[in-house]
Amino acid sequence: MPREIRFLNTMTRRVEVFHPLETGHVRMYNCGPTVYNFVHIGNLRTFLFEDVLRRTLQAFGYRVTQVMNLTDIDDKTIKGAAAEGVSLREFTDRYIAAFFQDIDALRFQRAEHYPRATDFIPQQVELVEKLTERGHTYVQDGSTYFRIATFRDYGKLSGIDVDQVRAGARVDADEYEKEDVRDFVLWKASKPGEPSWETVLGAGRPGWHLECSAMAMALLGESFDIHTGAVDNIFPHHENEIAQSEGATGRPFVHTWLHAEHLIVEGQKMAKSLGNFFTLRDLLERGHDPLAIRYLLISVPYRQKLNFTFDGLHAAAAGVERIGNTLRRLAHTPPAASGEALVASEVDAFVEEFDGGLADDLNTARALGALHTLLTRVNQALDGGGITTDVRDRLAAAIAHVDGVLGIVPRSQSPAGSDAEIDALVAERTAARRSRDFARADEIRTELTERGIVLEDTPHGTVWHRAG
Ligand code: AMP
Ligand code: ZN
Repeated sequence: MPREIRFLNTMTRRVEVFHPLETGHVRMYNCGPTVYNFVHIGNLRTFLFEDVLRRTLQAFGYRVTQVMNLTDIDDKTIKGAAAEGVSLREFTDRYIAAFFQDIDALRFQRAEHYPRATDFIPQQVELVEKLTERGHTYVQDGSTYFRIATFRDYGKLSGIDVDQVRAGARVDADEYEKEDVRDFVLWKASKPGEPSWETVLGAGRPGWHLECSAMAMALLGESFDIHTGAVDNIFPHHENEIAQSEGATGRPFVHTWLHAEHLIVEGQKMAKSLGNFFTLRDLLERGHDPLAIRYLLISVPYRQKLNFTFDGLHAAAAGVERIGNTLRRLAHTPPAASGEALVASEVDAFVEEFDGGLADDLNTARALGALHTLLTRVNQALDGGGITTDVRDRLAAAIAHVDGVLGIVPRSQSPAGSDAEIDALVAERTAARRSRDFARADEIRTELTERGIVLEDTPHGTVWHRAG
């Protein structure tokens, strides 16, 4: 039996115990990037919440089928391709490749499917035809619109008031505000210079909202478990997805809706349109460690705003270093033959607290707090009586669990050099000292100091850690 997990469901506005429709198998859909530019770290915060969600569900014993779409046709991608005079494919291919580089650098696990909207045109057309059969659409100037007055539940996710809407008022843009709630476009009549498809709906192209409904149902079925995005997706995007999907099938579309709060900068949403954004590339060029960025972006629970600052990023880097330093210190200290400086039940209690945090609507702050308390206890035990082999084994399993879920345990690579490289230099220094070549030994120490490595000569040999 998978472990119990609770989520705050945007639809019901309540914390609920989660039960997938199919026992042991979670089907989830994440609104992915619009591939007209590099993603910014606000987008990545939302994608990282979805990565931690996936990993947590897996660690808790569920099989996960995850779909993240790539919006490769909308107002923005069309404009970008036209501005450069290249085809939509060529333009979006570039940013899709960049997106995968970014998520790899941040240690994402890959989802099962990354569908592109332009590969699902027939499914989108079919969905519009179904909506037409059920009386939810009308055509105006060659475009097909969804008549929201025909869908009784319109507004149930976002809580907007549809009574104000003037019958027949329409909106063509992919993105619009709550004040503009109107009939929205499903299929847009072709315009000169825009990509278009010849279909039974006439020559044209899909609206953004239609893409997600069609791809989600094509890959996950008419009803599935979890749908996510950031809070700006609630209206109109997800409200429209519900209208399109439930309007066509007459069945519930999604059971649990989860929405991440925004990454903000000085009180404002980080957004391309505001120009207040950093891409991952910007931060890596300034020398920041991708693991520290990952740590920072997952450290605040997803339902809370995260204020981005460089102080926060430095604190996250220190958190990552502390994990690495403690683990290295543990590895370089011989096991204690006996003793109770750290007992197995304490490690078990840590895992319980860590999982308990995540089971509580993915409270990553609580999980990280538990981890740092454990690291303090490990350091205290190493200062005191040492840690036995048995307890070390439990610690290793617990840390592997932490890394499986959060993906923040440092491995060999870092700007200072890999662990293996540094180990080799430390070994060379030890050999130089043995053969009384103190000049070479000092040279190595200086080099390591410059790289931010601190050496400590102990009775058991030299141990090292990265300066925190
Ligand atoms: P887009 O590429 O604009 O479609 O956005 C991709 C995802 O990032 C969507 O789920 C957005 O809601 C989300 N997003 C956009 N800006 C932010 C932000 N500042 N913080 C968190 N998520 C964001
Ligand atoms: Zn979407």
